[in-house]
Amino acid sequence: MYEMCAGLEEPGGAPVWHVMAKSEARTLCGRRLGQRVDGASAQRAGHCSTCMTLFGKLMTAPPAVNSPATTEG
Ligand SMILES: [Zn+2]
Repeated sequence: MYEMCAGLEEPGGAPVWHVMAKSEARTLCGRRLGQRVDGASAQRAGHCSTCMTLFGKLMTAPPAVNSPATTEG
């Protein structure tokens, strides 16, 4: 599962929405979000282009889990 996390694009930079896997401590673009972005800034924030690109690839990639083969028929 993935979730959106508002954070700074770079230290001291503009706030953007990153994508973060729930099991990871980093965003998809490899950033650790140490500083929280307040709600007003988050509403005006754009999206992290790196996270969006990587997230798009993840969504179009085939699932990693093997589905059990059925021998019916
Ligand atoms: Zn990002």
